[in-house]
Amino acid sequence: MHTMYRVGILGATGAVGQKFIEFLDGHPWFDITALAASERSAGKTYREAVNWIGSTAIPEQIAAMEVVACEPGLDCDFVFSGLTADVAGDIERQFAEAGYPVISNARNYRMEPDVPLLIPEVNPDHIALIDQQQWGNGGFIVTNPNCSTVGLVCALRPLADAFGIDAVQVTTLQALSGAGYPGVSSLDALGNVVPYIGGEEEKMVAEPRKLLGTLENGQVHPAELLISAQCNRVPVLDGHLECVSVRLRTPAEAEAIRAAFLDFQSPIADLDLPSAPERFLQVFEEQAFPQPRRHTGLGRGMTVSIGRIRPCPILGVKFIVLVHNTLRGAAGGAVLNAELLVEKGYLQPRTVSASATA
Ligand code: NAP
Repeated sequence: MHTMYRVGILGATGAVGQKFIEFLDGHPWFDITALAASERSAGKTYREAVNWIGSTAIPEQIAAMEVVACEPGLDCDFVFSGLTADVAGDIERQFAEAGYPVISNARNYRMEPDVPLLIPEVNPDHIALIDQQQWGNGGFIVTNPNCSTVGLVCALRPLADAFGIDAVQVTTLQALSGAGYPGVSSLDALGNVVPYIGGEEEKMVAEPRKLLGTLENGQVHPAELLISAQCNRVPVLDGHLECVSVRLRTPAEAEAIRAAFLDFQSPIADLDLPSAPERFLQVFEEQAFPQPRRHTGLGRGMTVSIGRIRPCPILGVKFIVLVHNTLRGAAGGAVLNAELLVEKGYLQPRTVSASATA
């Protein structure tokens, strides 16, 4: 039997917090022992505090738990963070300083030189950056990328390995759930497209360069590639679709590109992590696939789908990517990161010290 780890969730009442609860239900290694949110929710049971937007019922034992404030002293071995960026910086720092490993979805620490920005199938070696962190008491921070970046980079990794990548142009069609709850107003969303998502294009330019960068002497040297991103909010519930054109360093035909996707060997395949999907990349041959409603849930929302691989007269090759934004792009990605950290010895059952609880 595997060691069980006690898990806290910061921002447990939010859209991503709820996905953590759904995704962790029945997890073989992780047991939720603490739920934390704002002062508005603290002191209430989870059922009272949350506006549950999941399509399954709140797990009974979670519904009855008391929500507490986001302050160190939580009864857990590490925390997942689904906090909004305006508060995540301070709260995550306080937890790291108090000795908690923090596995975060928020953007605040993603680009810090000593913080891993991690997708286990893409850059598992970057977890060694943790060794550079100086929080003390065993605390550290690990982040997962922006939800659109996750889909893009999962597709780019095999191409970077096989051919090298020079330039990427990406246009996204992003689901409403990516904006949290209540998110985009119905008057903006219904029958409409909003051609602006604050800060998203900047993240899609910066984060892939770190993710595809090389770790040498304790530092990530960013990949040298040009990226241009255009991000749109569309009236879809879950699943970000991305139209991607790529200029490769060594030009290749569509057939060789397809083979690179199909032949890609996940670097974590032998670890058998519970949340790693059987199929990391699903390549479709059907002309009109992948589609958000049909394919976002593949591999429990952890499979990234690719289709319509074809020549691009401007950059060389183009294709479609689909990623589940709140699972692979948020909660599920963070859980997979935690599983990798367990396997690599970075997470241990933790004793809460008197000073940490003070
Ligand atoms: P959300 O639905 O607005 O949830 C925010 C959470 O933060 C709630 O639990 C809220 O608690 C808590 N919170 C707010 N102010 C607080 C405070 N002062 N102190 C303590 N807790 C506070 O947001 P979300 O969509 O889940 O996004 C959460 C994070 O994940 C963001 O950083 C976002 O950028 C990132 N992310 C989201 C997605 C996605 O697809 N949605 C994907 C990737 C990354 P109360 O309920 O008590 O207010």
